Amino acid sequence: MLNATVCQQARLSKDARFDGKFFTAVLTTGIFCRPICPARAPKEENVRYFVNALQAQDAGFRPCKRCLPEIAPQTPLPIKIKQLTQALEFGDSITDVCDKFSISSRQLRRLFIKNYGLPPSKYLHNQKLLLASKLLKTTSLAISEIAFSAGFTSIRRFNEAIKSAYNCTPSQLKNKPRQQSIELKKVTVELAYRPPFDWHLMLSFFRLRQLNSVEHVDETHYRRTININGDKGWFEVTSLPDKPALKLTVQLNNYRYLNQVILRVRRMFDLDADMQVIQQQLSQHQILADTIAKYPGLRLPGCWDKFEFSIRAILGQQISVKAATTLANRIALKYGEAAVKNPSGLTHIFPQTEALINVDYQNVGLTKSRISTLHNWIAFYQQHHDILSCYENIETLEQTLIKIKGIGPWTVNYLAMRGLSDPDAFPSADLGIIKALTVNDNKPSNKEILALSKQWRPWRAYAAIYLWHSLAH
Ligand SMILES: [Zn+2]
Repeated sequence: MLNATVCQQARLSKDARFDGKFFTAVLTTGIFCRPICPARAPKEENVRYFVNALQAQDAGFRPCKRCLPEIAPQTPLPIKIKQLTQALEFGDSITDVCDKFSISSRQLRRLFIKNYGLPPSKYLHNQKLLLASKLLKTTSLAISEIAFSAGFTSIRRFNEAIKSAYNCTPSQLKNKPRQQSIELKKVTVELAYRPPFDWHLMLSFFRLRQLNSVEHVDETHYRRTININGDKGWFEVTSLPDKPALKLTVQLNNYRYLNQVILRVRRMFDLDADMQVIQQQLSQHQILADTIAKYPGLRLPGCWDKFEFSIRAILGQQISVKAATTLANRIALKYGEAAVKNPSGLTHIFPQTEALINVDYQNVGLTKSRISTLHNWIAFYQQHHDILSCYENIETLEQTLIKIKGIGPWTVNYLAMRGLSDPDAFPSADLGIIKALTVNDNKPSNKEILALSKQWRPWRAYAAIYLWHSLAH
């Protein structure tokens, strides 16, 4: 737990491991900062600590222009809270969210106050402002694009909100000139993380699973084509050499969903994980402790798109990573849309749900039973779109999805682990996990593995990724 002494030590030593875990507001200037702020540290009697940027802003403080609290990593939250928050941020009303998750508005309010220190309406208002402020300060997008991208419904409301929170106009917050050419317009955003983070390990994981028509992964960059709610484009991620952050470059025909892109990329590269807490718990097991010591910056690779990943999880049943990747690439080539122009010459965008309904999958190289599993899953998903973003816990998700013919616990847990970034998902029947836990030819039973994994909760997905890596030499 953080207390004032820990916060003081962390901010005075500019300790990046605490970035995003608390914010320092300065009473004399009205500004709040990240622990890593390069500015001269204020006196302890003049500061007040907040556990998140929203609360600091709600208390009337403004984000520092030097350290940009708007781009700090987030604090990891329980999956349920993440799902509720995401639904609100992606445009559902409070009533919609309560209906979707079967909770009362009072329960929703209580959960928000417990996790963010603010009720949902104040959370949303401050979140929109911080997002607008971030885009104004860090991108070259036009002010009107930023207003809508941050979730404001009109320019007038946007101007008023900025005026009342920051006492200035949107253009006064801007520090990047507008780019002239619309055609070449790209947006770059910095994505901060708390070290350690092993970028090369993350890239090599994606490189082994690269879909050649959709993704390009080399020694330094990850690139892929995207279609986000109908807007097409591509993005590229690389590591910044001089600070704990990745650089995201996006090109889209429209930037209204830019924040969704940012959130999805953060999840894909697992940038909000609190590795200190996770590693401390998992290190109690010897195999995991050894792997953590060897790969301290290993994180949980996620995915860009849940649906795409669900297809890949089904294709991956009982075959090698390489074979599954080949099959997924054939599906992208056969049923995907044409990509927009991009620096890697990628040709396709992975097909959306509609493009894979009622297709025959001929000449892809799938068995009849795998084809029928794909049909069953896609038909179910089309009827239950919210299933992957609105479930109680991994057990309930497993109980629901294993009713679909061809889908078993391995597929559900593998999908949840990588496709949904559920930190507690655990594919206990995975051959790699069994192998990693086999000592002196004593293969553990599934029951034994599940019993052992209890001590790793709620971080079993990290245990799985460490177990996989324990097999590497
Ligand atoms: Zn600062």
